[in-house]
Amino acid sequence: MDYLVLARKFRPQSFEEVVGQEHVVKTLKNAILQNRVAHAFIFGGPRGVGKTSVARIMAKSLNCEKGPTPTPCQVCANCREITAGTSMDVREIDGASNRGIDEIRELRENVKYSPTSSRYRIFIIDEVHMLTREAFPALLKTLEEPPAHVIFMFATTELHKVPATILSRCQCHDFRMITIRQISEKIKEIAQKENIRISQAGISWIAAAGNGSLRDAQSIFDQVISYSGTDVRDAHVEELLGLADRRYVFMLSEALLKKDPGKCLKVIEEGYYAGFDMKYFYQTLLNHFRNLLFIKIAGKDAALFDLSDDDLLKLQALGEGASRETLQQLLDILLSEEENMRKTQNPRLHLEAVIVRMAYLEELIPIEEILGRMENLEKRLMGGGFRNAGSG
Ligand SMILES: [Zn+2]
Repeated sequence: MDYLVLARKFRPQSFEEVVGQEHVVKTLKNAILQNRVAHAFIFGGPRGVGKTSVARIMAKSLNCEKGPTPTPCQVCANCREITAGTSMDVREIDGASNRGIDEIRELRENVKYSPTSSRYRIFIIDEVHMLTREAFPALLKTLEEPPAHVIFMFATTELHKVPATILSRCQCHDFRMITIRQISEKIKEIAQKENIRISQAGISWIAAAGNGSLRDAQSIFDQVISYSGTDVRDAHVEELLGLADRRYVFMLSEALLKKDPGKCLKVIEEGYYAGFDMKYFYQTLLNHFRNLLFIKIAGKDAALFDLSDDDLLKLQALGEGASRETLQQLLDILLSEEENMRKTQNPRLHLEAVIVRMAYLEELIPIEEILGRMENLEKRLMGGGFRNAGSG
């Protein structure tokens, strides 16, 4: 059997399996239950977050022999054909390669026919914003007088490029980026089902590299597996994702917060000889200090940030000894030098200069502490503490 990529093998087949789009799923399920299904939907949102998967599940829900139902049976002929992509009544069209007026005219002819074996004829048009300027009016005509047996589902990563005349005829649903936590859970589930050993840290690096797209994270996981086999080591993931600089960022910031300029310079040198792009490294460092500061400010609410648990714990431990004021100052220095860093001809030297400045920074005393000290002083003055001390 051919190797089936994870994104396809684990494509959600029911609404319950859809990750991170609860708001859309809930609305669609209710519409089916209340028998108030629109004739045209448009699903907008980033790539790889489940738009066409939801369109297919919706098609199954509407055409299932036991339906319309929000929980299609998955076993009737209609359900199985839709899963396999062979249903005569559910057509998937790639808007990027069928973008001309001729294709849309053909589609208009096509919608006239009744469904062959199901309730509805369903047209799923992916990347609908790619249609040509001439094709949209032709599509609009169909949307204005849709036959009762036809349902359109459009998907697009660029909703703003779809003409308002089309949008106003559609029920619009916004798909969201998927959080690292949600992607991690899914990757973990896949690892278990596929009998792949991988650490929680490895899982969360892959999830973060997906950048909000479950499909991207899954294909990164595919690459990791084909590189390491079923026993995935952290070092493999780091290497494959180019994450080695993250380790150095942690080492560097640790030395910085311990006010150890010598160690800082040593870490930079090692990174330099390991072949890091110093300008990119600077950006990673900037982002790292932003996270440190945010976690400091958020305190117990830090779990709300979209960071993996592993990173969160590490960052919390790292920032423990530093005050918010100090972290703020360090971030300010990095931000103020960002532009210069981008322009410099000698990024290593520039990075070293900035880091040394940061390492020698005088510790700022938090304002609460100063107020506390003043209050103490005041009490002692009021209580005559000084007089007693003077006479003794
Ligand atoms: Zn069915």
